[in-house]
Amino acid sequence: MRLSLSGHNASRQQPHAANDSCTLIAATGGPFLLYRLMKSKLFSVLLALALVTIPSPAMAQAAAISAPITDVGYEVTFTRANAGRRQVRSAMTFTVGGTEPVLLSLPAWTPGAYEIGNFARDIANFSAEEGGSSLAWDKVDPDTWRIRPRGVGQVSVRFDYLADSLDNANTWSKSDFLLFNGTNLFPYAEGRGFDFPASVNVSTEAGWKVVTGMTQTGPRRYSASNYHDLVDMPFFVGQFDVDSAQISGTWVRFATYPSGSVSGGPRVAVWEALKLVIPVEVKVFGEVPWTTYSVMQILDPAYGGGSGLEHQNSHVDVIGPGMASTPVMPSLYAHEIFHAWNVKRLRPADLWPYRYDSEQPTALLWISEGITDYYADLAEVRGGIVDAKGFYSLTSDKMSEVDGLPATSLEDASLSTWVHPRDGTEYIYYPKGSLAGLLLDIMIRDASDNRASLDNVMRNLYNAAYKSDRGFTADEWWQAVTKAANGKSFTDFYARYIDGREPFPYDKVLPLAGMRVARDTTRVPQLGIASLQDSVGVHVTQVLPQSAAADAGIEAGDDLISVGGFQANDPEWTDKFRSRYSRQPEGTSLPVVIMRDGAQQTLTARLHFVNRIESRVVEDPRPSAKARRIREGILRGITAN
Ligand SMILES: [Zn+2]
Repeated sequence: MRLSLSGHNASRQQPHAANDSCTLIAATGGPFLLYRLMKSKLFSVLLALALVTIPSPAMAQAAAISAPITDVGYEVTFTRANAGRRQVRSAMTFTVGGTEPVLLSLPAWTPGAYEIGNFARDIANFSAEEGGSSLAWDKVDPDTWRIRPRGVGQVSVRFDYLADSLDNANTWSKSDFLLFNGTNLFPYAEGRGFDFPASVNVSTEAGWKVVTGMTQTGPRRYSASNYHDLVDMPFFVGQFDVDSAQISGTWVRFATYPSGSVSGGPRVAVWEALKLVIPVEVKVFGEVPWTTYSVMQILDPAYGGGSGLEHQNSHVDVIGPGMASTPVMPSLYAHEIFHAWNVKRLRPADLWPYRYDSEQPTALLWISEGITDYYADLAEVRGGIVDAKGFYSLTSDKMSEVDGLPATSLEDASLSTWVHPRDGTEYIYYPKGSLAGLLLDIMIRDASDNRASLDNVMRNLYNAAYKSDRGFTADEWWQAVTKAANGKSFTDFYARYIDGREPFPYDKVLPLAGMRVARDTTRVPQLGIASLQDSVGVHVTQVLPQSAAADAGIEAGDDLISVGGFQANDPEWTDKFRSRYSRQPEGTSLPVVIMRDGAQQTLTARLHFVNRIESRVVEDPRPSAKARRIREGILRGITAN
């Protein structure tokens, strides 16, 4: 998935449940998902009825499968003129062999962003033609169009796509810039598979640039050998900065919009970070899986927080000003780039191959996301971006974040992400999955006397599953873990901590790696709300009973403007709030400005303190020689072999 940065919120001291672009859609994800489930159930009932009452398999088939199409090409047109309308034009051409209807579907989601995107709602001015005259068309479901060709020949389908969603799974434009994903602009023939080659032409202003991971075959012409690759390679089109450097023997590009948004020292720093994290990630798997890699980044003043979305040879980051040039950025890059192996190639079988017409849940997302986030931390410490203390601090933040959330199993959280749980656990599989990675790494190293590590699990599965063109199963994962751990059984660990909801056994496991957890209890002022931040504002999603917020009359659905004089959209507001009010007496009056039903109101809350337990990972001052070796092994990426 795109990195929600919930795993990093704690390190930025940001208590909001989440603050990435996912949350923009979170509010609508539930109802739309329900609708889709209802739709598919209704459809199967209707299909069954049709089979009973009208015994015509041909008719039933016609409802689900497109006539075959060949010579598929797409053209994307983005000029100053469409930019002014915040639209991009997509044209699809293909050859048909007769008059059978062609069914074209638009994906319901962008892989990596585990939510239904409903991209079809951004389509306007749909038309189809053959030989210069228009063809009849209608819809067969919300994102499938049925076109009726007149006979053998070339058909063209055109539509405009509304490019105003600042979301790395979607399409977004400014007067001089376009980000688009193929999942938004490139329909596919329903039921005809995804193994068809396709070309993409980009038609744009003469002086504008194009960056994409797709293979270039001519001036602004690109090709992919199959649909999965086609829609996994987003584009930047327009005026932006781009430069490149060789890292681990391949060319890496850094494309940033708007021009000048990452320049001078900060740009040098990004390159330094990439040169430190990529080689240590390569070392885990033993190979670079891409020919070129593109880091594509948008900085927008209206965007709250930050979000990355991974692809096989690129990733797209969207960040707000509060995130730019902070220590979170190398971590974001390390996370997204590690996905080039873990999830884009080494992928749960439930997600292999991707399907585009509905949600595709897996109980193993904690491996794809949480373990990836563990390796982001490892890449930082192994690459030298942070020292051991920095690594412990990243780990401590994740512990505190998980401790503050309802007990949730990693497998359940993996499945639930599609419905965007609103109890704060929507992204818990990032930090908790990362901590599971640390525990597994330590237990494998302990059981193997540091001859093997979690790196072996990742590399072995990558070679066994991905190199055989398939996904891996949960059984394979645990077998690989057991094998690396010298035959140790993880049945009990799985039952209690992965399938189950028991608190992680830090006190038992961390000392095996010369680490332990210190717990500090502090009194902190607390408002008592859960909130979601997006580019529009900070939305209150939950008010804790008997909290300062409840007493003041704050309600779920309010937009939070400021608390105690601190703007709620400031990423540091909780820090600032706590440092000003932590020494004030309980009950001190606290102005809270909210927006409700379009009107601004000032409510008065009374300062309320709660006990907060913070976990801190510290080094064991007297570790055994073995524990010391394991600790060094984790921090430096080495084993005894
Ligand atoms: Zn991720």
